[in-house]
Amino acid sequence: MSTTVLITGVTGFIACHVLQAALDSPENYRVRGTLRSMSKKDELLARLLPEDRERVEFVEVADTASSDLSEAVRDVSSIFHVASPFKTDIEDPEKDLLKPAIDGTLNLLQYANKEPSVKKVVITSSFAAIIDLQAGGVNRPGYVYTTKDWNPATYDEAKNAKGPTAGLFAYCASKALAEKAAWDFMEKEKPSFTLATINPPMVYGPSIQPSIRRANLNTSSAALYNLINDSAEVPQGMLPPFCHVKDVATAHVRAVELPEAMGRRYLLCGGMFSVNHALKFIAEHYPLLQAHLPKGWQEAAQQLPDTSQLAQLDASDAKKYLEMEFRDWKTTLQDCIDDLQRLEQRPNWNA
Ligand code: NDP
Repeated sequence: MSTTVLITGVTGFIACHVLQAALDSPENYRVRGTLRSMSKKDELLARLLPEDRERVEFVEVADTASSDLSEAVRDVSSIFHVASPFKTDIEDPEKDLLKPAIDGTLNLLQYANKEPSVKKVVITSSFAAIIDLQAGGVNRPGYVYTTKDWNPATYDEAKNAKGPTAGLFAYCASKALAEKAAWDFMEKEKPSFTLATINPPMVYGPSIQPSIRRANLNTSSAALYNLINDSAEVPQGMLPPFCHVKDVATAHVRAVELPEAMGRRYLLCGGMFSVNHALKFIAEHYPLLQAHLPKGWQEAAQQLPDTSQLAQLDASDAKKYLEMEFRDWKTTLQDCIDDLQRLEQRPNWNA
């Protein structure tokens, strides 16, 4: 008998790949997705194979943080909680990031706790919940981040963050505080389901989400698009550790399928590449894009930083319990750039 799994925010970049990975699983799941607007439903379905479409259903959830989720969680065996804002260009850290992330997670867990069918909950957390920005982020030679590390940012620090990096700081805090709230919930409420979290760094790959345009491109794909879109200068601050989006999706599904996988945090990492590495790769593999690379790309491409001098990420638990093998950076970058070039050709791309 097939069981139903729930994916929150099924119209998002990562969630669309989790949907595909769940449909591709030999478990033959039925998949229910929450979305904020049914207007994206048809485009999402159109991307699926006809035989997969009949295994997918949708529930409209205006706001994961405050909506009634009883219909969404009804009769599902596992939940993939992916919905959460990932943006750094924000006006109000509390309203735009902290509350949706933390309250969205807690509201979901509370509804899951009332539904006896729910056995496993996997939350899309992030390396943002692990990195310590105040200690230098990845600029900590010799340091190895593991799943024992927690981003120490507090709610008040994030709420009151100011300056050019305030959005990034608050986003990272939102992920850490939401994940902590989830593990605290497990400790306090002792629900009948188990929890695992997936903690990837920057996630890249094909953007298959519906209604995609230049203006609403997800944050990580937009970071790479800025490299091929006539930027005035080489962007600073791109995080070198990455994971291919298909590997992220696989990790979600394996967490609920492999024995002993639940009850853990999973740091994922396919390796590292700097913005300079990316520019050199793009210039060599896509000569026609050279005219659209940021000003100063030639100098950047000649100065490749040694990423082994950065803090490293220990993904050994993901390899051990989720049997993960990660795609490398060149494959990942190529998949993303190929896809962005395809998207750019769409008639409504700049609409
Ligand atoms: P997207 O912006 O593509 O997806 C975010 C999803 O969350 C969308 O479906 C969005 O809905 C939904 N959402 C946002 N806010 C709310 C809300 N208040 N209520 C209901 N739904 C909401 O980004 P990603 O796919 O990249 O991110 C998905 C998850 O992965 C997030 O939790 C993010 O923190 C995490 N992550 C992402 C990484 C990356 O590099 N991309 C790295 C590590 C973690 P809608 O489609 O309607 O906008």
